[in-house]
Amino acid sequence: MPPIFKGPTTEKYDYIVIGGGSGGSGTARRAASYGKKVAIVEASSHPGGTCVNVGCVPKKATADLQDRFRHHASGYKFTDVGNPTFDWKAFKPQRDAYIRRLNGIYETNWAKEGIEYHEGYGKLTSPTTVEITRPDGQTYTLSGEHISIAVGGTPTIPAEEEIPGASLGTDSDGFFDFAEQPKRVAVVGAGYIAVELAGILNALGSETHLLIRGETVLRTFDPTIQETLTPWLEKTGVNLHKGTHVTRVDGAKGQTLTISTDKGEKIEVDTLIWAIGRHPKTQNIGLESAGVKTDSKGDIIVDKYQNTNVKNIYAIGDVSGKWLLTPVAIAAGRKLANRLFGPESLKDDYLDYDNIATVVFSHPPIGTVGLTEPQARKQYGDDAIKIYKTSFKSLYFSQVAEEHKEPTMYKLVVAGPEEKVVGIHMLGQGSDEALQGFAVAVKMGATKKDLDDTVAIHPTSAEELVTLR
Ligand code: FAD
Ligand code: NDP
Repeated sequence: MPPIFKGPTTEKYDYIVIGGGSGGSGTARRAASYGKKVAIVEASSHPGGTCVNVGCVPKKATADLQDRFRHHASGYKFTDVGNPTFDWKAFKPQRDAYIRRLNGIYETNWAKEGIEYHEGYGKLTSPTTVEITRPDGQTYTLSGEHISIAVGGTPTIPAEEEIPGASLGTDSDGFFDFAEQPKRVAVVGAGYIAVELAGILNALGSETHLLIRGETVLRTFDPTIQETLTPWLEKTGVNLHKGTHVTRVDGAKGQTLTISTDKGEKIEVDTLIWAIGRHPKTQNIGLESAGVKTDSKGDIIVDKYQNTNVKNIYAIGDVSGKWLLTPVAIAAGRKLANRLFGPESLKDDYLDYDNIATVVFSHPPIGTVGLTEPQARKQYGDDAIKIYKTSFKSLYFSQVAEEHKEPTMYKLVVAGPEEKVVGIHMLGQGSDEALQGFAVAVKMGATKKDLDDTVAIHPTSAEELVTLR
């Protein structure tokens, strides 16, 4: 239970943070470490935000070992493991309990560090005040010297006027609520969430349809990644509907849904998941009262220091619309607190958004940092760009039947005569883990020669990145 605050405990807080997710918690804790009087206003009774409750954590905690049992183990001469069943009903409460423990850890850490947790909905009422509406409906106001907005975002679902019946579908939040595994599911979208959720459901044995508008998934990623993953999804059993737009959805929640498409298809499923992007929660948080500006998508406009257009009001994380990733929100929040409250040496601290590494937990996973090949060609010119690329089947799959050998593809994009590494794109088992170290190298400005001069670690897949010719 969060401590019950009847109202403010000081006339003016050094720092009020609206939203206790990745970014909000990160910035509040760093500010508190400098001895500042900090209040977090969090609307949910489950602190930690999207990542902890309906994002990174429960997703990654849903292990899809099915392929290992079904397709790999027999190759390694394990017997009687070919037809495992996954008990979703038993697993879900166990995963939920883990998340509740994490919620508790957030609260404990805030309490230990002297951060006041005000449970309630926060709304700016002026450039220096935040009104809190508690779950019981009571309201009170906090006043602060500095205020950060870290309210995150929410999944986008098409309007009923646009696609009749769209609201019969759910979104990624709904996915984590499923009490049972859907037998037949359609996922609409081609980004991170669509690819990850379709991958999990397919691996766990649901009949999975993935409806994409274009010809490939992950269209913002390097083309070689798109061209490798898209056919592999189909090969592993995902029913991929390319160049497809949903035109209407018929049925009733909890019963069979019929999805009609512009290609004349009628797809029958038990569940439909929209995964077509997210939008910021900037409605109804009093931005107009404080004069804070948003762009056409509703994202709060910030400069490189996370400053909004209003003095002493800042925005961090998904609500500022750039790189919607947990470590980005945390880093931006911590750096902001360093700058506002830290020592003189950190008075200019800010997050450099260049070369942020990111992973898609697809099957197999993808790791990418820096520029895609088209971006690099545009930025440096065709003549300055050289590509080093390899595709292979990793040693792990040497004992696995041919049709179940997953692809591995590594690509280096280098620029200029010194062959500076400006992009690394990896797809294949272990890419999610291997990328972190390579991201350090790219951030430090590594060249192809630096990679070549690094002695390989054998036998790994990642060693191929330091032996490319
Ligand atoms: P959030 O974490 O969303 O926190 C915002 C908080 O503000 C919430 O707790 C909310 O309750 C609160 N709030 C909202 N409005 C108010 C209000 N008016 N008053 C008070 N409180 C309010 N990122 C990764 O890096 N790796 C991953 O593997 C990954 N997987 C993901 C999987 C899914 C399915 C999703 C949806 C996202 C995933 N992300 C992942 C993205 C990541 O979750 C977000 O980028 C991150 O949570 C953003 O942090 P934030 O602090 O900006 O917002
Ligand atoms: P994304 O922005 O990644 O992808 C959404 C995709 O949906 C678009 O790229 C687009 O692809 C497609 N789309 C958009 N509008 C429509 C539409 N009207 N109909 C059909 N398709 C549409 O958003 P997500 O929701 O997948 O994820 C949100 C963010 O959360 C991600 O950008 C990422 O930052 C973060 N995240 C990170 C994860 C990680 O780190 N592993 C995991 C999950 C989320 P196209 O143009 O090709 O049609």
